[in-house]
Amino acid sequence: MSEIEIPLSRPDITTLEIEMVTRVLRSGRLSNGPMQERFEAMVSRRAGTDHAVAVSSGTAGLHLVLLALGIGPGDEVVTTPFSFIASSNCILHVGAKPVFVDICPASLNMDPALVERAITPRTKAILAVETFGNPKHMDTYAAIAGRHEVPLIEDCCEALGASLNGRAAGSFGRAGVFAFYANKQITTGEGGMIVTDDETLAEACRSMRNQGRPIVEPRMPVSEDDVPEPSNVASSLEHVRLGYNYRLSELHAAVGVAQMSRLDEILERRRGVAGAYLDRLMGNPHLIVPTISPDTIMSWFLFVVRLVAGYTPEERDRIMRGMQMHEIGAAPYFPCIHLQPFYRSMFEFKAGDFPIAESVSQRTLALPFYTRLRHSEVDLVAQTLELMIEREQLSRA
Ligand SMILES: *Cc1c(COP(=O)(O)O)cnc(C)c1O
Repeated sequence: MSEIEIPLSRPDITTLEIEMVTRVLRSGRLSNGPMQERFEAMVSRRAGTDHAVAVSSGTAGLHLVLLALGIGPGDEVVTTPFSFIASSNCILHVGAKPVFVDICPASLNMDPALVERAITPRTKAILAVETFGNPKHMDTYAAIAGRHEVPLIEDCCEALGASLNGRAAGSFGRAGVFAFYANKQITTGEGGMIVTDDETLAEACRSMRNQGRPIVEPRMPVSEDDVPEPSNVASSLEHVRLGYNYRLSELHAAVGVAQMSRLDEILERRRGVAGAYLDRLMGNPHLIVPTISPDTIMSWFLFVVRLVAGYTPEERDRIMRGMQMHEIGAAPYFPCIHLQPFYRSMFEFKAGDFPIAESVSQRTLALPFYTRLRHSEVDLVAQTLELMIEREQLSRA
């Protein structure tokens, strides 16, 4: 198969990122260094939190947060079935049980009323996902979590830079986790970041990402070229708790620092691409385009449309394959987590358990979406999509 001409996503890497990585390689300090601290400071500032802990992936970050909160076997975590699998797998990683609740068809995030109803004495956290970069309801989940005295964990892996009523994604819960895989708004190749105001939680995560080493106090630099050992590294071989190797290398952190310095520019360009899609597809009677409520500033992760009610999953799949045949990326974000073979066999979930999530999931189509997607390409994608929909209409008749 030839390479897809307009792919689903493409990282935005400039000479700045390349120079930063080169600088790290020349420095001789490839792990546990100053780049990680710079990256952490930039992300915590953006999320409006006191602390940030860089980790090797978003999944690793979620795992550490659940561990730090002491969630384990016998515990329940209320979460969404309409997400990337990692938001639910982290609950299984600590031996707890995901309790899914259905979504709101506009925001595609959990329906707050259902969240409230799903809470039992065994509930130890609410794990909310900002689906496709939409922070809608995060304040409501935080209020519910507060009322029931359980922590809110924000899986903001898709939402760096989003805000709700002026409050930044990452700042709603006891902790938030961002991710920097290659298709996210900004990338480090692989990477993640825990953000929190809770110092004890941050320190536990710092220690666990580094094999359970104790945290030592930072030493003030004594001269210009004195680079103190960062606060999160004890070089000792003392291990005070069960830890992991979830560190982010200095090379990755360097890419992150460069990407963060360009975040506003990147988000602005993505907003422009999303706007072009919205203008082009809003009037199409076969499609539902993303609805953004006025209190919300999206951080556009993907651009996902869905076919209107009545379209079958088979029709959606044919439309998707038709686009791919025309060298245009398209993907069915997201298949429901509870219907994944592994989850079905483990928990005996079945079709119909979460009807809104399932119905949405069967009709979604993610379109090519990245910083430098040209408006002429948006037009070509839209044209091809319309053509494929028309073809389905003809074959129906
Ligand atoms: C990307 C993502 C993650 C984490 O992914 P990693 O590949 O581990 O960095 C977690 N949850 C959601 C909702 C995501 O989109």
